[in-house]
Amino acid sequence: MKKGTRTERLYLQDPYTVTFQASLLSCEKDPDGRLAAVLDKTYFYPESGGQPSDRGTIAGIEVVDVWEDESGTVYHELAKKIETGTVECEIDWRKRFDHMQQHTGQHILSRAFIEVGKLETVSFHLGEDTCTIDLEGGDLDERAVGAAETLANNIIWENRDVLVKTGTPEETTDDLSRKSVPEGVTEVRFIEVDGFDKIGCCGTHVRRTGELGMIKVLKYEKAKGTFRVYFEVGKRAYDDFAKKHEIIKRLANRFTTAVESIEDKVGKLQSETQRFRKDLQKLSKKLAEYEADRLHKDARLQGGRMFVVELVAENREDYVRLLASCLKSKKDTVSLLGTEDGLVICNAPSDSGIDFSRVVIERAKSLGGGGGGKGAFATARLPASVSVTEFLEEVFENVKNT
Ligand SMILES: [Zn+2]
Repeated sequence: MKKGTRTERLYLQDPYTVTFQASLLSCEKDPDGRLAAVLDKTYFYPESGGQPSDRGTIAGIEVVDVWEDESGTVYHELAKKIETGTVECEIDWRKRFDHMQQHTGQHILSRAFIEVGKLETVSFHLGEDTCTIDLEGGDLDERAVGAAETLANNIIWENRDVLVKTGTPEETTDDLSRKSVPEGVTEVRFIEVDGFDKIGCCGTHVRRTGELGMIKVLKYEKAKGTFRVYFEVGKRAYDDFAKKHEIIKRLANRFTTAVESIEDKVGKLQSETQRFRKDLQKLSKKLAEYEADRLHKDARLQGGRMFVVELVAENREDYVRLLASCLKSKKDTVSLLGTEDGLVICNAPSDSGIDFSRVVIERAKSLGGGGGGKGAFATARLPASVSVTEFLEEVFENVKNT
């Protein structure tokens, strides 16, 4: 087939046929290096109009992409070169049907947003993982989203006909239509959801709305004056439900409660945790005060100051900070505290003249750790290879005569 010859597109009238015979006219590398097969006619949908392309096989060889050029030639990218002649073709039905469900669902949902909130779809995306429509023309809230979703599902469950028609632009621009037809176009293909929606479209669609099963809006977000609505249709909605149901079921088992009671249970756990946290803070403060008194009694008296040099048993940083602050409130007391996992907190009275920058922060960095603070207060993190006790003793030696 010469470039520029239009491929007969059979999917336009019949998106349900998935096995067919065709003549392979050429199978050559295109300028982008893609091995592109051209058939005289095809049921493979080329990516266009927001709908992803089909997958499947030609003569048993995998079709990895399908696209078209301006002249209407459809190209099928193959994983391996094949000889020209009659070939057996097969379309991946699960993927095709998924695209049909998402696309017809998108038409219905877009119309539903017009009906409930006069919100126009200005663009849409049907991806392999996510589907979205971008809405403009009004405000969107949970209530409107819920109403649009309910309306869309009612249309699905009424099992209305979905008709593929061709006609003049006037026939598709009645009060139901939401997309103007480009100038100069005399005939358009349009999709009509009986009595509900009508719009020019070249995608593949189901015959009746009931084939969609259901539609679910997942979330919406505002971006630059438009609302982006995420949704899923049919099997995708089912898969999502099944996945989430499994999670909910496991949670219910874990909390030994019914699915309906999980929220209550989590609410109770949250308040309990808050209460425990408050209790823990109070107890930690008491413990720190008690421990500070004890450490202060055993402190080393040096040059008129009390030095507390201690490896604290409690590994929590918040607790060690609390302890350091309790010791700071004691007169002329310098505390050099550490934990077994490498935390060091050093605190001296601000008028003591002691500066920990070099002996703690820089020293810790030189040993491969890190540190922060200023003047009479410093924290450091030591690598596991450094003994915290030895580090604290070294700091003590360095500052004891300041
Ligand atoms: Zn469409």
